[in-house]
Amino acid sequence: ANRSFHPEDSRFDIGGGLIGGGAFAVMAGPCSVESEEQVLEVAKRVKKSGATFLRGGAFKPRTSPYSFQGMGLDGLELLLLAKAETGLPIVSEIMSTEYLDEFVEKVDIIQVGARNMQNFAMLTELGKCNKPILLKRGMCATIEEWLMSAEYIMKEGNEEVILCERGIRTFETFTRNTLDLSAIPAIKKKSHLPIVVDPSHSTGMWWMVESMAKAAVAAGADGLMIEVHNAPEAALCDGAQSLKPDKFDQLMDTLEKYTQLE
Ligand code: PEP
Ligand code: MN
Repeated sequence: ANRSFHPEDSRFDIGGGLIGGGAFAVMAGPCSVESEEQVLEVAKRVKKSGATFLRGGAFKPRTSPYSFQGMGLDGLELLLLAKAETGLPIVSEIMSTEYLDEFVEKVDIIQVGARNMQNFAMLTELGKCNKPILLKRGMCATIEEWLMSAEYIMKEGNEEVILCERGIRTFETFTRNTLDLSAIPAIKKKSHLPIVVDPSHSTGMWWMVESMAKAAVAAGADGLMIEVHNAPEAALCDGAQSLKPDKFDQLMDTLEKYTQLE
């Protein structure tokens, strides 16, 4: 991951969606896949607004075991339907290696969530597969620890790692997490890997998403991951931080002035 081995910024072409080396990516979609209607509706809307990837959780790492845990493999099938309708490549989170073959076959980017950033056994397995990995920063991880987790994947031969800053836990409780914008220049200095920012999980509030998205672009991020839901008030997960499709559309109009979406 160290820039000294690779002075140029890495750029990946993932199912037609480019990221890194000047190409800006927007990964948008619901926190969780909830139904065919929901995911198709959100996918069509975000595609129309200019998103370059569809995100959607099928396996959800919920704090409470009594909360909705995701649709599992059925959720992956619905994401594939949405991909067939829109052409958007898919990003979805893996929770264990149990369904690794299904993930490799079905999704375009495998997401490792904050809670699994140091699941070294899983990172090693992901390093052996030929599939880009979105590695979210652990909620209490230093930049060095985060880059070492990227090394666990790359060491096995998989060099397509995208980093995602999603906020870290601090003494502040107003926001869900504290977005560490300084991670962007820090990662750019140390590494050639692309870095995207998730203004949804880092703030926890939909009305903060636009400011933080703009700030991430200004700080040099290679992309954004944004939660969008057609009916946030009824969402099974993370409704409070999800943008409605209209609001996402306005945000994309604003961002277009500053980014190069390819
Ligand atoms: C998510 O992207 O839905 C998610 C669970 O994020 P994080 O791992 O950053 O909490
Ligand atoms: Mn979420």
